[in-house]
Amino acid sequence: MEVCDKCGLPKDLCVCEEIVKELQRVKVSTTRRRFGKLMTVIQGINAKDIDLWTLSKELKTRCACGGTVKDGRIELQGDQTEKVKKVLREMGYTVEE
Ligand SMILES: [Zn+2]
Repeated sequence: MEVCDKCGLPKDLCVCEEIVKELQRVKVSTTRRRFGKLMTVIQGINAKDIDLWTLSKELKTRCACGGTVKDGRIELQGDQTEKVKKVLREMGYTVEE
């Protein structure tokens, strides 16, 4: 049986990951880039707690758009604000308004 190395509980009972997600204070905003391209910026996620690359991959799939991880923030192409907020909340993150 696999046991969580943080709380010592079996992996099925462990909620460490859920708690970590809840503790994030995620901010979603848009910014305009060169040539007027709109980007959605997701910040406030602690890269020590959450693998930003894995999360960005998930978000790119869910929003069907391109994106990248830069300076501890996830950037997605286009205005994905509403979609991203919904997806992040579904995943258990705390998203600020
Ligand atoms: Zn745990």
